[in-house]
Order: sequence, then C-alpha cells, then structure tokens
Amino acid sequence: MRNLCWFTMVALCVMAARQSEAAMAQITKRGKTTWRIHMHANAGVVERFAANELTKYIHRMSGAGLTITGTNSPNTVTLGLRKDLKITGLPAPKPGYDGYSILVEATRIVIAGDNPRGVLYGVYDLLEQLGCRWYHPAIDPKDPEVVPKNPDLKLPVGKWSESARIEDRVYWISGLAFKVMPESVAQLDWAAKNRYNGLSWQCIPEKIDEHLGEMKSKGIFTAMEKRGLMLHGPGHSFPYFLATDKYFDKHPEWFGFRDGKRQPHGGKWPLTNFCMSNPQADEEFIRNVAVFAKKYPQFHWLDLLPIDGGVPCQCEECLRSSPTDLLIGLYNKLADRMKTVAPNVIVDCVPGYGQLTDPPSEVFPSDRLAAVYAHWGRNHNQSYDDPYYSRRANMLVWTSYFKRFTICSYYAANSHQPFTGPPFLHALEGDTKFMVEHGVTGALVLEYPYGFWWSNSFNVRMGGLYPYYYPNRDPRSELKDYAQHYYGPKAGPLMADYLLMTGATENLERTYRASRGEADDADIIWLNDMRTMLTRAAQLTANDPLHSYRVSKLTSGMDMLIHLGGSRRKIQDIEKAVEDKVSDKAAVRKQIADAKTMVADLIAHAEKIGVLNDGVVDAEWLKGWTINRTYTEPLNAAEKKLTD
Ligand SMILES: [Zn+2]
Repeated sequence: MRNLCWFTMVALCVMAARQSEAAMAQITKRGKTTWRIHMHANAGVVERFAANELTKYIHRMSGAGLTITGTNSPNTVTLGLRKDLKITGLPAPKPGYDGYSILVEATRIVIAGDNPRGVLYGVYDLLEQLGCRWYHPAIDPKDPEVVPKNPDLKLPVGKWSESARIEDRVYWISGLAFKVMPESVAQLDWAAKNRYNGLSWQCIPEKIDEHLGEMKSKGIFTAMEKRGLMLHGPGHSFPYFLATDKYFDKHPEWFGFRDGKRQPHGGKWPLTNFCMSNPQADEEFIRNVAVFAKKYPQFHWLDLLPIDGGVPCQCEECLRSSPTDLLIGLYNKLADRMKTVAPNVIVDCVPGYGQLTDPPSEVFPSDRLAAVYAHWGRNHNQSYDDPYYSRRANMLVWTSYFKRFTICSYYAANSHQPFTGPPFLHALEGDTKFMVEHGVTGALVLEYPYGFWWSNSFNVRMGGLYPYYYPNRDPRSELKDYAQHYYGPKAGPLMADYLLMTGATENLERTYRASRGEADDADIIWLNDMRTMLTRAAQLTANDPLHSYRVSKLTSGMDMLIHLGGSRRKIQDIEKAVEDKVSDKAAVRKQIADAKTMVADLIAHAEKIGVLNDGVVDAEWLKGWTINRTYTEPLNAAEKKLTD
C-alpha cells in the first residue's frame, strides 16, 4: 500500500464503496421504492397470498408500496414455482419438503418455491432477513408482531435454498379445540409463518357438523387455503360415527359391554367404547366415516380416535382378543375402504395412547395405515433421542410398523407441562434429531387449553420451525434471537440468560414442581433468585412501554409460579394428619381453615393475572385443573374424614 499514491488510494476506496453498494439490493430508499412484484401467470391462491404478505410487511416496515407488474423488468421481485419460472442462476433445490430457493441480485430478487407453500415460506424467509419476527400470534393488541421500522430496506446479494426434513408439521390448534374461537385465525396465520403445514382439529363428537359449518362461515378454511395449510382431525370422535341416539335401541349388541350391560357410546360414566369385535358395528362405523370423508374433503389426514379416557368393551368376544388388536383390525378395514372412497386421504391411528398403548400381538397395521404416536405426560427433561427416555422401546417398536409415522409432542399441554412454558431446549433438540435420524415423517405439536397461548409460544414455534430448518436454526440460537428482538436491546441479553436458565434441563424440574404447588425450599430460593433478573429487566425497560409490557407478561407468569410455590404441601400435611388420626383435631381444623384461605388467595391471584395478561394464565383452567382438583377436593375429603 505504501507505494500507492494518494490519488490511487482514493480511487480504490471509491471503487470499494461502489462495489459494496452494488452488492446490495436496495428495495426501498427513504420510504420510496422503484421495485415491483412479478408473478407467473399460473400463480395460485397461495402464491398470490405470498405476494400480498410481501407487500404488506414491506409497507409496514418502510412505508413504501410495492406494486404488481406484468413484466419481468429490472428492480423486480419475481415469485412463483420453480418449474414455471425457468430462471437461470437459481441455486439447486434442497432435498426435502416445501422447499424454496432465493436469489438476491442488485436489480432482481427471485423466490422460487418447489410447491406453493415453498413460495410463501420463501417470502417469510426474506422478511425475516429484513428483521421481521413472528414470535407470538398477533392476538394481544398491546403486543404487536416484531416489524422494525426502516425506510431504507436492503438485502445483501446472495442465494440459498431451504426445505423441511420432516414432511408433515402439524399444529394442534388450541383456538379450534372443542369450539371455534375468533383468535384461531391469528393462531393459524402464526403457524404458517413458523412453517407448519397442517392444523389438527379436536372436535366435540355431537357438534362436528355444527363446528365445521362455523369454521367455514368464519373464514377458517379460506384462511387455511391461502396459506396451504391442511386439515388433520377430527380427533376423539368415535361416538359421532356410531351414535347412541341412532343405533342403541335397535342394535344394543353393537355397544360396549361393562358392568353387566351394554353401555351408550360415550356421554355417561364409565365412558365405554363400542364393541369392535362385532362385524356389523364395524361395518356401519366405516360406512359413516366414508360418508363423512366425501362430505368434508377438507381433511388431508383422517385422524379418528376412540373416546378419550374411554374403556374397551368387555363382552366375551372382545375379551378373546386384545384391545390393540381389535382397534388395529378396525383401522385396517377403514384404511382399506378409504382406498376407493377417498384415495388421497391419509388414515391415522394413534399408538402409544389409550387403547393402543401396547403393541399388537396378532393383528398388525396394514401398509395403508399411518400413525400419530402420542405419549401423554412425558416429562420434557427427556427427549425421544435419550437412551433413557421412558417410552423409547414402545415408541421404537410402534415406529417399525409404519411407513408414515408422526410423533405428537405435548410441548404446550397444560395438563402436565408447567403453565409458564419454560423453553424445552433439550427435548426440542433431541426430538428433532430422533425424528430426522429415524425417518419419522411427521411432527405434531399439541397446545391446550387456549388461555396459555402467549406462554406456550416459544415451544410451539420451535416445533414447526426447527424440523424445517434443521440444523441451521437450533432452539438455543432462536431463543437468543427471541430475547434480543422481542425484549429489546437493553433487556435482551439479560432475558436471554433468564430464558436459557429456565429451559436448562438441570433447572426444569424446579418449574415443574412449582407449577403443581410442590416446590421444595431450594426451589423457592431459586425461583426468587430468577425473579430478581426480571426485576432488573423491568428497570432496564422502564422508559420503553412495549418492551416493559412484554417483560411484565413474563413476570406475571413467574409470580403465579412463586405464589403456587410449595403451597400444596399444606394440603398434603393435612391429608397425612387425618390419615394418621392425630389426636388434636382442633389443630387440624385450624390447618384446614388456613388452607382454605390460601386456596381463595391462589384463585384470586390467578384471576387477576389472567385478566391483566392475555395468553399468560388461563385462570379458569388453573382453578379447575390445578386448584379444585388437587387442592379443594382433597381438602374437602380430608375435612369429611375428620368429621366422620
Ligand atoms: Zn365387545
């Protein structure tokens, strides 16, 4: 360099500056744009929606409006299917599913999908490169999507291809479970942005037709079509296909035998499944499923299950077989019938769950039958990939029977997961590794109930995104990205540590215990320690209403957790005192009275938090599932025993 004259150095600097300018596609400048969108004439509903999404977010970021052009002129974003576009210079497609390639040059950008969904995902990828993030569904008006304002949008020149390693990525959507909530549109929008390609719907058997009609009239199906989302369901629905009202009087022998008599198909305790060893009952059931499949072509996967928590028929004939063999036999016949009635529909059974927990011994799944393996109640300390995962042998045996095998993960089931939604880093990473290495074809993530949608978002989001991007965007880096962009630059680093600490396997059990009110003294010290990080984050965001509100949402969940803390130990002490028949009954009565005050306080706290923070705590659920079931009922029982 020292031999170059000053003039040459200046000239070199100018050239370098020009080169770096040339190495960018400047999409908007000072809030204006000369760029346009070009779509292939064959563009379908999903590609058109993708173009609208690009226009919408570019406008929200920069204020500039992209228009649609008929010609493929310079300064154009071209969208479409790879096979239609025939553009040279695109990178090779990446093997997998729902893939796309992106090419960014100074005067043109191309988003080429391997299928329509790929085009939409390519648009979301591009918007993410520009800073957009979809961490939570856009439900809470006080907490908008992360869409950074920037009048000068530009992208570095480059090209890349992406695809999913797992074909089916299904979100069991809480906003459609058992009823149709208006917020489900925001949820499904968010699911598509996080690369889910299907929604699983859990019905109420008696209201199937009514709810499907409602989903149509409320635009749920249209919203799904625009995003290429496919429908999975209707879940635990057997009583719809062999209804008590319609058949019981005429054919009692079709129904389950328990306690010395035939029982209705659901609706009455004991919840009893129908008599599957009866060929006429099976035939009528299958005939009704066939009618349903024709009436509702929306279903891509026909996923039908017996009554949830229902018991099998115990007639003499059914007892000759095993519940698994009977049910697999029924599913085989159903899958066979669908071959002619609805050949493109995938028929699922659900092994690992209810009547199909044990692998079959005599009747084996046919080639046409697919499966959604479901292990309800897993502790997310364990991933499917761990050699010590409690159900690994069962899962591996079931996996070996099927070509199409999906795994249902309960990352967001508040029946047995901490309601604060600690990030399940170990499980998310190990589960995806297991699925990819074992050729599992589908990942399904269940969220229930609806009221915890905000707290559940990270785990649900990763369930769609990580199998798609594996291994490039791992949950740990995504968590840091989330902390930084969602909580802002001031609190972000601290929040990243907070989230990584709550999600660490070594700490996870503390949150599990506190969410049941069973925390020990060390847990409570740890929770209060963690709480100080949130206090500090609140100080750091004090002058910033949006980031401060987000910190307060997380804090309110933590406060509920601390409130529950070890509170149930008081109930356990009372139960033990009553069991041991302690002589000082007055002291126990005093303990019961104190415990009742505590329960009232817990309920009041849950209600307060539930109202103040959309999606953090479902107060009704916490009252019913946790407090009434595990505090009030045992307390009343103990009180009764004491009096008796
Ligand atoms: Zn039977």
